[in-house]
Amino acid sequence: MRPLRNQCEVAVIGGGLAGLSAACHMARLGRLVTLFEASYMFGGLVATVDEVHGLGVPGKFSGQDLAVHLLDAARKAAVQIVEAGVEKIETAPQPRLRDAEGRDYKPEVIIVASGASLRKLGVPGEEEFLGRGVSRCATCDGGFFRGQDVVVTGSGDAAVEEALVLAKICRRVIMVCRSPLKAKREYVDRIASRDNVTFIWDSQITEVLGEQGVTGVRVRDVKTGVQSVVECTGLFPFIGVAPNTGFLPAALLDRNGHVQAGDDYRTAAPRVFAAGAVRKGYGGNIVQAMAEGIGAAEAALRELENIS
Ligand SMILES: Cc1cc2nc3c(=O)[nH]c(=O)nc-3n(C[C@H](O)[C@H](O)[C@H](O)COP(=O)(O)OP(=O)(O)OC[C@H]3O[C@@H](n4cnc5c(N)ncnc54)[C@H](O)[C@@H]3O)c2cc1C
Repeated sequence: MRPLRNQCEVAVIGGGLAGLSAACHMARLGRLVTLFEASYMFGGLVATVDEVHGLGVPGKFSGQDLAVHLLDAARKAAVQIVEAGVEKIETAPQPRLRDAEGRDYKPEVIIVASGASLRKLGVPGEEEFLGRGVSRCATCDGGFFRGQDVVVTGSGDAAVEEALVLAKICRRVIMVCRSPLKAKREYVDRIASRDNVTFIWDSQITEVLGEQGVTGVRVRDVKTGVQSVVECTGLFPFIGVAPNTGFLPAALLDRNGHVQAGDDYRTAAPRVFAAGAVRKGYGGNIVQAMAEGIGAAEAALRELENIS
């Protein structure tokens, strides 16, 4: 690594809800915090979600509402924001990291809150038609499909949540599900009450079809192997998430790529902590992401007290 040009006491990697919560908490307690965000948007997985659920408080909040509020609080608490991703971490003999601009940092502690990204289907046509019919955000792109037929694939909360957004805009929403719906009861009840939503069960998408834009998807019944074509102009894949851990040493990860950290948020590397969707065992909702951010911050604070 090149010589160090920047110093920071605490490095928080990721400007999702876990990272922003961790950064705010530590900065309010007087620590010098630098927060790194790889994307042009803060808020992570919920950055484009129109209405988040499960906050436990009355009122309607978008993911952006939460991210903007936390980002504002972070700035007021003097968190240094670096709008660049972290490309590499070294953990021994002490933590060091390099950002995407080639700047090196030598923090006392690191909190990894780099979350997860939506999984790709990995089928022909998916990348080719990204932005030309394939979308990963119903709130951002739903309007382009007004009055048209779209396919959503996935069975979990995110798939049903996005299908509910599209059902208000599109003529027909066809859900292609490999397994029964695994979403919250509330979502399942709401989607069942929409008469423009239909389901193709036990099936997966094997190809995205089109010319200038998407014209359909090829669907395979996983039980019978029979393939069919479903005509549509849009495809929204929500088949789960994969952790963003490519920049971390393999020794910190489990076989699925999640960071292994216990309830104390400590990883296998001294002074490196992990919180939120990047962590093995994370519960999966935003309240937990924020709570884990604060929990990891508390653990890192105790570590800093031991160092000084
Ligand atoms: C479509 C959808 C809808 C959802 N709706 C709800 C809901 O209504 N209610 C609910 O409770 N939960 C919901 N969830 C789940 C919730 O979004 C996540 O559990 C939670 O936001 C995870 O937060 P996080 O901060 O741990 O990770 P993330 O949100 O993934 O944030 C991680 C951040 O780190 C950044 N990053 C990644 N790599 C790097 C790097 N190398 N350097 C710097 N930055 C990096 C990313 O760009 C991102 O901003 C939803 C999820 C999805 C996909």
